[in-house]
Amino acid sequence: MTVDVVLSVPLDRTFTYIWPVDRSETPEIGMLVRVPFGRRKMIGMIVGIDKHDGESKLSPDIVLKTVQDILPPEYHIDKQRLELARWMADYYVAPLGTVVPLMYPPAPGTKARGKRRVDAEFPLHDNQTINLTDEQVRALAFVEQRQSDQAYATLLLHGITGSGKTEVYLRAIEKTLARGKGALLLLPEIALTPQTEARVKKHLGEDVATLHSGLSAGERSRVHEAAARGEIRVIVGSRSAVFAPVRDLGLVVIDEEHESSFKQDDRPRYHARHVALMRARTAKAVVILGSATPDMESWHNAQKGLYELVQLSSRPSGHLPNVEIEDMRGDYAADGFSPRLLEAMETTLDAGRQVILYYNRRGYARVMQCSACGEAVSCPHCDIGLTVHLRPRRLLCHYCGFSRDNPRDCPDCGHPEFLPSGSGTEKIEIGLQAHFPDLKILRLDRDTTGRRGSHADILAEFSQGKAQVLIGTQMVAKGHHFPDVQLVGVLAADDGLHLPDYRAQERVMQLLTQVAGRTGRVDPGLVIFQTWQPEHPVIQAAAGHDYQGFSALELEMRSRLNYPPERRLLRLGVSARVLGEVSDAAQVLTDLLRSGLDAANFEVLGPAPAVFPRLRNRYRFQILVKGNLSVNQKAWLADCIAVMKDKNRNIDVIPDFDPAGIY
Ligand SMILES: [Zn+2]
Ligand SMILES: [Zn+2]
Repeated sequence: MTVDVVLSVPLDRTFTYIWPVDRSETPEIGMLVRVPFGRRKMIGMIVGIDKHDGESKLSPDIVLKTVQDILPPEYHIDKQRLELARWMADYYVAPLGTVVPLMYPPAPGTKARGKRRVDAEFPLHDNQTINLTDEQVRALAFVEQRQSDQAYATLLLHGITGSGKTEVYLRAIEKTLARGKGALLLLPEIALTPQTEARVKKHLGEDVATLHSGLSAGERSRVHEAAARGEIRVIVGSRSAVFAPVRDLGLVVIDEEHESSFKQDDRPRYHARHVALMRARTAKAVVILGSATPDMESWHNAQKGLYELVQLSSRPSGHLPNVEIEDMRGDYAADGFSPRLLEAMETTLDAGRQVILYYNRRGYARVMQCSACGEAVSCPHCDIGLTVHLRPRRLLCHYCGFSRDNPRDCPDCGHPEFLPSGSGTEKIEIGLQAHFPDLKILRLDRDTTGRRGSHADILAEFSQGKAQVLIGTQMVAKGHHFPDVQLVGVLAADDGLHLPDYRAQERVMQLLTQVAGRTGRVDPGLVIFQTWQPEHPVIQAAAGHDYQGFSALELEMRSRLNYPPERRLLRLGVSARVLGEVSDAAQVLTDLLRSGLDAANFEVLGPAPAVFPRLRNRYRFQILVKGNLSVNQKAWLADCIAVMKDKNRNIDVIPDFDPAGIY
């Protein structure tokens, strides 16, 4: 007897092995096995079984190798997840063998060793007796109805931070468990949301386990096995937990469903929301998508009636934060602080309350600039300016990690003076300390959170009132509840509005809404948006808590320009070390696409240099395809790419379906 196995190699084919005669198991589709491959041993999944004399159909000089080991039943891919893997392989044009490893932990069967690290304790501020609002009741009734009908359905829960989404998630999970079914709760970055995790565990206890890449291989194996055996019924996790082998799946919850971290930026470039919807469809489960600023596609689907929409319009505290727009055009604020923000900070600090300041750039200054010719010091491997860091003192490339000292003379004009230009969180911190010398300040960005656990430690310190101000990048915007925060200052609210990406405005709206939601949880808080474009519709909408107004404008723009959700988008990234080779290849591919896709249904843009035209010594071009490619058209595209790569091995072509951004 022989079995056909797919392996995690970039070849879209199967490999045949002899089934070991000394094993009592019979092979089944979806079973994971260890097989020899070249000099290595690899894990593969069985996709075909030949019960007859397998060798007769093969030429006699091919010597088949034998399956070495069969993984325990906990690691077999069940029917629903197998169907999901096949769908992903088609949709994302990835060999099935490269999709399968998403479905099991990286080192299956590893024993968990040592004690689990206990994360810093957070006060939970849990209201023990919560009366549900009418809207929450309606949301739960929908979930219950669909679950009892055993019908796939999606609920979009639209509500600002603190409007009670988590309460709906928890009760919906409880009801799912009561039906004897399992649930998945996906969070954008689980390390950044320890409070949600803690709250779920407190609420649901032993049935729950977390699954994310921060766990050791042993812990991941343990959770995987327990879920497969049905001992753990609820998995809380990041993107990859969407594949967890939860049995009898009845509910999938995706919190902050608009977050781009649900999209994997490595092959296969899947979107966990899309995968979750497909998984729920096969499992006849209910999906809850929650967000204060739903993704345009989710919102569009709710508007069309494909999703049930429930809006949580009020906060139990009854307060929406007051947002002031501070016009920075007249004021010259060299250190980034307007007089209004400083005054509000003083009042807040005098009252014994806390402040969060948000600035989305780490480091001290954006670049070092020659004071004579204006040239900035850039990375020799990427066409990007090096960011100035003070502690430790160095110029650093935020893309490839290259670092160097300050140059003595300008390489362009020989002038000996360089000056830092632009700012970052390090500079903001120093500037603030100059205004308030006695203030205890914490900073939260990639530079202060390098050590494992340091992120949670900083949040815990702030939560315990050991500092009055928390300064940080996007990290300060995510899911923490600090009841003492009375003021949020956004130092440059228009930052990012004009990035060359059709999603730029959506991202700014999301961030501003999220960061504004950090205050006003107990009493009306104050948010100050410092901006150079006070009339900009996105700034206005974010300040007015007007997501609907924003989304109407945004959807109109998308529809006019055929961007998602009007049409699907494919980004083809073409790169190589030699500029001429990249531009030629990108042109050939674009011509192929234009001739192969009908112009009525598809729009091909490009080729054009990517937003970052050179990264890690590779020149980058991109081609955009707007339109809904069929499985056959995708297969044709994959053939085109394969032919191109055969002609020139130096060229890399990466198709990214539904890209998170265009860069
Ligand atoms: Zn110069
Ligand atoms: Zn670099």
